[in-house]
Amino acid sequence: MTFTITPHASPVSAQAREKALEDPGFGRVFTDHMVTLRWSAAQGWHDGKVTARAPIAIDPAASVLHYAQEIFEGMKAYRTAKGDIVLFRPDKNANRFARSAERLAMPVIPEALFIQAVEALVKIDKDWVPSGAGSLYLRPFMFASEAFLGVRPAQEYLFCVIACPVGPYFKGGDKPLKLWVSDKYTRAAPGGTGAAKCGGNYAASLIAQAEASEHGCDQVVFLDAAEHRWIEELGGMNLFFVMSDGSIVTPPLTGTILPGITRTSIIDIARDMGMKVTEAPYSMDQWRSDAESGKLSEAFACGTAAVVASIGEIVSSSGSFRVKNASGATVASKLKEQLVGIQKGNIADSRGWVRKI
Ligand SMILES: *Cc1c(COP(=O)(O)O)cnc(C)c1O
Repeated sequence: MTFTITPHASPVSAQAREKALEDPGFGRVFTDHMVTLRWSAAQGWHDGKVTARAPIAIDPAASVLHYAQEIFEGMKAYRTAKGDIVLFRPDKNANRFARSAERLAMPVIPEALFIQAVEALVKIDKDWVPSGAGSLYLRPFMFASEAFLGVRPAQEYLFCVIACPVGPYFKGGDKPLKLWVSDKYTRAAPGGTGAAKCGGNYAASLIAQAEASEHGCDQVVFLDAAEHRWIEELGGMNLFFVMSDGSIVTPPLTGTILPGITRTSIIDIARDMGMKVTEAPYSMDQWRSDAESGKLSEAFACGTAAVVASIGEIVSSSGSFRVKNASGATVASKLKEQLVGIQKGNIADSRGWVRKI
């Protein structure tokens, strides 16, 4: 597919861009361009464009506005010390986007086309990729654009990619997270959409996030919907538990947990570093007793946006407890250093994870 490229007529000046890149925060500053691509039952994928980033006009009857047929991805472009711009495992994002599309009864965008669209945006907005600790967060997404109020999979979709330069995800920087355990709300049920990256999952998690904020917490720990006992994940990050004997446990992908690319990469890195990693159910009661007995030495959350974040305290309606998290050379910090080192080109990429643009 060839994308029609119409560069922005008045892009942000180099000076204003440099200023914006100094402290971009997360998800507030956007680049000059966007990529759009349409799908219809009659034409399949067509009308690929790179244009100035601008509002999208949609019909008020577009089915996404009524039945939430929408999916997205989150990935980053990094500038290496050598000055190259790279993506990290974009094939994994393409593949997960395809699985999300299937779950939401949407058309699948082929892996090569997905990567081509993402690369087209990074290429035209390459000056927006921060050097140093920042990166360019990429947000591919797709929604049902057909104007039709009947309930069935739409016949028309818009796929779009936008980008924003980002610094640290959490305002507190590396401060350990304080988590709220929701006993009232769940994120995903067996047979539901928990393993798909769809906007609806986030919409349903916001009330629990608000509850967490009311309790002075940063994020929510979601438990399984059936027993309210097993730890699943945070609203947008997977969880790892490090035992004092050095072994690591992470909840298994049973269909209610989002299969994080950071999660799977950390499992591989940890195993290659000689650590024992088990994907096994871990209960809230176990977490508390392991933290109290000292069997648990660290807990951390991970995802593309926040990378690796240590967990310091867990709060629930039945009281709170702390995780030791010895400062300095924690397992979390060693794993993060490896992962970021590969992404930034400072550590050799022996697994073929990095793709140069
Ligand atoms: C995106 C996401 C993650 C993290 O996935 P990564 O591929 O590591 O960024 C974890 N949980 C949820 C619910 C997510 O949406």
